[in-house]
Amino acid sequence: MHYFTPKRCATSNKIMYHDKAQAQYAADQSLIERGAELWVYRCEFCGTWHLTHRDPSTSYAHTPLNQQLKPRSRKKGYKPRRR
Ligand SMILES: [Zn+2]
Repeated sequence: MHYFTPKRCATSNKIMYHDKAQAQYAADQSLIERGAELWVYRCEFCGTWHLTHRDPSTSYAHTPLNQQLKPRSRKKGYKPRRR
């Protein structure tokens, strides 16, 4: 038997995979065994492959703080009815 002993990235502390296929296999196993969908990406620091919980294609499409919804003020023109 051959055991895969994972090394961890010094920068991200994530498990290092030497090629994309190996990382993708681990991601598939995670989805099957735990229902956790993972994405594969190449680390710019160590040059190996890591898994991430976030979809890389949407991770940089977050909403800026100044575009978040403001709480709406009361309707304008509302007049309390007088008796
Ligand atoms: Zn790394």
